[in-house]
Amino acid sequence: MPADEEAGSRFGGEAPCEAGKLLGVEECARPGRATYTGLVLCKEHLRRFELEDRREALRSLVVLLEAAMEGTEDRDLRRSLLLRRRDAAARLRITEALYRQEIHAEGHG
Ligand SMILES: [Zn+2]
Repeated sequence: MPADEEAGSRFGGEAPCEAGKLLGVEECARPGRATYTGLVLCKEHLRRFELEDRREALRSLVVLLEAAMEGTEDRDLRRSLLLRRRDAAARLRITEALYRQEIHAEGHG
């Protein structure tokens, strides 16, 4: 079996998306395309969960950088941390916007 075999070809669209199990809602009718944390997910739900994970990671990063800034008197270090915090906050805003788009698109899909 080739190591780079894609999940999509393995499932061939036959296994249904299992997002309902994770969300505790009704079953998703779309075919599964990939596995994520052990569940078969459709393309839309995979994207949504990836965005949620990224959003949480960026939120944690912003909090950590803020805590680090408060914990040091070193000006250069504070400036460096501030720039990284700004960058993380900007990426967080983009991720949140993409996530809202995704939810919106799903509502009409
Ligand atoms: Zn789905």
